Amino acid sequence: AKRKSVKQRDLQMKANQYNEEMRMLSDKTPDVSYDDLALGVCLHRGRFGDVYKGKLNDSEVCVKYFHPQQKSLFLTEKEIYSVLSPDVKTIVQCLACDECPQPDGATKYIVIMEYVSLGSLNSYLKSHVINWKEMCSMAKTAAAGIGYLHCETFINGVHKHAIVHRDINSRNILVRPDMTCVIADMGFSMKIRGSKVIRNGVEEHAEDGSLRDVGTVRYMAPEILDCAVNLRDCESSLKQIDIYAFSLVIWELLTRCTDLLYEPKRYMLPFEEGLGSHPNFETMRLHVAKEHNRPAFPVNMKRTDATQLLRETVEECWDTDAEARLSALCVEERFKDIDAMMEHKAGPEMSKNDTTDCEKRNR
Ligand code: ADP
Ligand code: MG
Ligand code: MG
Repeated sequence: AKRKSVKQRDLQMKANQYNEEMRMLSDKTPDVSYDDLALGVCLHRGRFGDVYKGKLNDSEVCVKYFHPQQKSLFLTEKEIYSVLSPDVKTIVQCLACDECPQPDGATKYIVIMEYVSLGSLNSYLKSHVINWKEMCSMAKTAAAGIGYLHCETFINGVHKHAIVHRDINSRNILVRPDMTCVIADMGFSMKIRGSKVIRNGVEEHAEDGSLRDVGTVRYMAPEILDCAVNLRDCESSLKQIDIYAFSLVIWELLTRCTDLLYEPKRYMLPFEEGLGSHPNFETMRLHVAKEHNRPAFPVNMKRTDATQLLRETVEECWDTDAEARLSALCVEERFKDIDAMMEHKAGPEMSKNDTTDCEKRNR
């Protein structure tokens, strides 16, 4: 009993230290006067909250309002954004996180972010096709964002834990006008080390239940669907789960790439062909975990060394054997190679297409 109370005291000390750090962090976030914040159009109405375009002192911003009962998602996003370096360009920039008491006694939880003008990758791909360069740029920068989250670093004496995102999908990746991508929506993210998750500054053993019930069913890795996530090294397991989800995002990109396919088909979500718009957990479990299905590559996809490497990269990332999947940094490196191989191959014909097909591409 004595040992336990010593441990209890250690935990309490760590928690106090953490709360102090968080308080100092929140003191550091710039004071935003909400009188200067003008809300514009609603960009998204979701289960957990609503997202608006807004204006703050003449700059465009994006404002995410959480429903009052979603305080824990808000606190998670706030905590994760507070430890990310503002110099990293592959994660959406968070400008402020705030709890605003309302006249009626309720509290509004809001996150103000940079406005990423081309919206989610999902909505972009629905209305645009992309060329090879754009595909490589989008995949490379999104992989870099996931890679940054995943790595544990010490920069200028500041420690950043490894972070797993746990809801990678094309709606949580945003597109900048220069065709780079940023990772957004940190509501389910977790700091993690080995077999421990770090909650409120305290390391805890990961529990099976708390790891399972999150994410988007369509993007769930076979081991989640099979309830067979390896918890002994959940840091690696959860990174591998992010990579599986990302493989489906890369597949979405390649189905809309005009340099791979003469006539890309209309945009479809992964598994939409076959399982429709709302597959449930059980349907996904049978299809992905039991029958080992994955989305099909387009039949008319061109065959070159570059497209072969692209295909292998996607297949390695959605491997049933989670340990065989590539790391995010490796995916980023692959896309540098894939880009260079295509550049090397692309003769004047390919470059000409890139410009003359511009109109067609943006239909
Ligand atoms: P939720 O947790 O409800 O899924 P997200 O943070 O994923 O909320 O945002 C929902 C949607 O709002 C995104 O899919 C995207 O379309 C849009 N969105 C979110 N953040 C931004 C942003 N910074 N700039 C532009 N659009 C955004
Ligand atoms: Mg989202
Ligand atoms: Mg979310």
